Amino acid sequence: MAKFYKTIRWKLNISFIAIFGTALILFSIIIYNIFAFQNRSSIDEAMITMAHSINESIHEEGFDKDILDEIKETYIPFTPYSAFFVEVIDMTGNIIIKLNQSNNLVLPIDNSVMHDAFYGKQIFQTIHLTNNDTLSGKYGIRLLLYPVNYQSAKYVLAIGVSLSNLESLLHNLRLILYLTVPIIIVLSFIFGWVYSKKAYKPVNQLIESSNYITAERLTERLPVSDTGDEISKLALTLNNMIERLENSFSILKQFTSDASHELRTPLTILRGEIEIALNKTRDTAEYKRILVNNLSEILRLQKIVDGLLLLSQLDEGKFKIKNTKINLNELLAVAVSKITPLAKKKNIRIIVNLLENVDQEDKQASVYGDEGLLLNVILNLLDNAIKYSASDSEITCSINKSLDSRTINLSIEDNGIGISKEHIAMIFERFYKVDQSRTRMGNMSAGLGLSISNAIIQTLGGRIEAESIEGKGSKFSILLQTAD
Ligand code: ADP
Repeated sequence: MAKFYKTIRWKLNISFIAIFGTALILFSIIIYNIFAFQNRSSIDEAMITMAHSINESIHEEGFDKDILDEIKETYIPFTPYSAFFVEVIDMTGNIIIKLNQSNNLVLPIDNSVMHDAFYGKQIFQTIHLTNNDTLSGKYGIRLLLYPVNYQSAKYVLAIGVSLSNLESLLHNLRLILYLTVPIIIVLSFIFGWVYSKKAYKPVNQLIESSNYITAERLTERLPVSDTGDEISKLALTLNNMIERLENSFSILKQFTSDASHELRTPLTILRGEIEIALNKTRDTAEYKRILVNNLSEILRLQKIVDGLLLLSQLDEGKFKIKNTKINLNELLAVAVSKITPLAKKKNIRIIVNLLENVDQEDKQASVYGDEGLLLNVILNLLDNAIKYSASDSEITCSINKSLDSRTINLSIEDNGIGISKEHIAMIFERFYKVDQSRTRMGNMSAGLGLSISNAIIQTLGGRIEAESIEGKGSKFSILLQTAD
């Protein structure tokens, strides 16, 4: 079993948690800071507003004791901050007004700061009062020094607000975040892990089913769900691949059994004849006859083995094909002259229609290819045409060009036995013979000729087409690209 930390499921979960966790932490930090900043500045704003209105009251009513009641009435019921104090200090340091909570306060303020405040500066500071723990609390107080000018004398209005409420609120918020963020991250991981197990179930099923499919069980297929997701597409793709493998395997099996069968026949004949020859002493003429028969079987064996070797080399692309410019007119003429003695045995006439082109003959009928292989293909088609034609018939060979001059068509047409529709699609397959009883016809038929010819022409970038009417004749066409 694969180590869990190597699985895609683990890597996906970890990446997701890393991204999600970072985003959540950043988000919490930002939200916390905005919240803290807004609350802190709202305290400052409230203090400024309070200072403005106390300043106004001083201007209207002087340092009347009533103004304390007014402040108490106006602010204490509404202030969101549990504790605050108000003092008005004159330049000699006397406290002229003092709200109840500020009894015995000693403000730890530098003289220079105080001086600045007397001379018109609004100053905010966060301080700790050494002699008043209830007001300072753990977090200290926010202090505003506000300059007041009244009847040409200078005063400082000092307003202090305890930060306890706000800071303990922020402290609690931090605590909540410290607790909830990791819990959310852990829960997301657990949820993702459990959910991805469900999501990956089809993948694991696919792995299990794939393990079950071996070379011997290629008929089996993977289960395909109808979800239409990537996994069902993967299963479909794998099934297509298994189908192609199954086809290749069955072709291979068929090929092996056909090849063994084709090789066994001449070997059985050879063995039989040699055994009979060895039964008793025979005269020289008899031995010669047996040897001639043996040689013919050996030639047949050799032809099959050579053919198979050529086919496998062509299949693997290992065969070194020469690529020279060939004049098809000339090549056809050579092939016809080679095959004529065979045709004459059956009194078959071969008519040749070369590509008519007096001026530029070479240019017009040329193709690129391997002359030797191409000659073998033409000879094979001519040989078949003669083999499957009645005596005294005709075979017509023609070379034509397509209308766009890109393709040259070399056709060989006979008036022979023809091939039925059900067989014509198969004749290019290896070892395929329309009539198995004709196997021994000419002693050389192995059903390999057309498949080799087809493989050669395909390697040269062309194709072979076959048309046939049973009982009337067949036409085989080699189509190749022109060389110009
Ligand atoms: P073979 O060595 O048996 O001729 P081929 O591969 O050349 O093998 O041909 C395959 C089969 O195609 C032959 O067995 C034959 O039945 C059929 N065939 C090929 N050429 C012709 C033709 N010109 N006329 C009729 N049948 C043909």
